[in-house]
Amino acid sequence: MLVSAKDMLVKAKAGKYAVGQFNINNLEWTKAILLTAQENNSPVILGVSEGAGKYMCGFKTVADMTKAMIDELGITVPVALHLDHGSYEGAKKAIAAGFSSVMFDGSKYAIDENIEKTKEIIALANSKGISVEAEVGAIGGEEDGVVGGGEVADPDECKQIADLGVDMLAAGIGNIHGKYPANWAGLNFDVLAQIQEKTGIMPLVLHGGTGIPADMIKKAISLGVSKINVNTECQLSFADATRKYIEAGKDLEGKGFDPRKLLAPGFEAIKATVKEKMELFGSVNKA
Ligand SMILES: [Zn+2]
Repeated sequence: MLVSAKDMLVKAKAGKYAVGQFNINNLEWTKAILLTAQENNSPVILGVSEGAGKYMCGFKTVADMTKAMIDELGITVPVALHLDHGSYEGAKKAIAAGFSSVMFDGSKYAIDENIEKTKEIIALANSKGISVEAEVGAIGGEEDGVVGGGEVADPDECKQIADLGVDMLAAGIGNIHGKYPANWAGLNFDVLAQIQEKTGIMPLVLHGGTGIPADMIKKAISLGVSKINVNTECQLSFADATRKYIEAGKDLEGKGFDPRKLLAPGFEAIKATVKEKMELFGSVNKA
């Protein structure tokens, strides 16, 4: 069964750890993340961008596959299926398709329009027990064609959006999607502390978790971050393991071309990355 992300994040905020959101791309990704969460007794959030949803034949396919997999694999830890960077229309579609959590990314709108649209999504989601993430201050880099400017959020605007009744709030604090450039300035902890002060118990979300040094992750958690999004890092691990398999010529040995063999090293690499993140975020044994 899928659950809303609300309870797991309230617990994480109180317990000073973070729950990982790991983005999925296909059956192998979903299975690898679910099994790792179960093995580590950790709550987990499966992230689905609109592009990944399209790739997997629509939100309904994703929701039905995930629910069936939870049953078939005997997964008992809390799992939320969450739309990542949803548009206004996308959020409505994901809610209708059976997602248990949605992000409405209104950061491209002026604050007044962001507020109006966020309110509508909250009303719709709340009527079905679905959690909502909102965003203030675009997050840098590119996510499925959505290019963010890497702004630092205004703490007062964060409070305005938090007060609407969202369950979690993403705020730009110098974080970027994808790989970080060598000259990256790091996270802006002063702003994070101000946002935390203004928004109180609201679980804060850190996007662009790939490549942020462990000490910065820990400091961010101590300042109220309760959800950390990881996407690129699993992709890099998967690609690296798959490349090694093929470069070693293993697809040419025996039945090494069988997709169940060919994709196995990448599958194990995703599991290892997810486990490492759950340990770093402190969510192991918090299910
Ligand atoms: Zn993001």
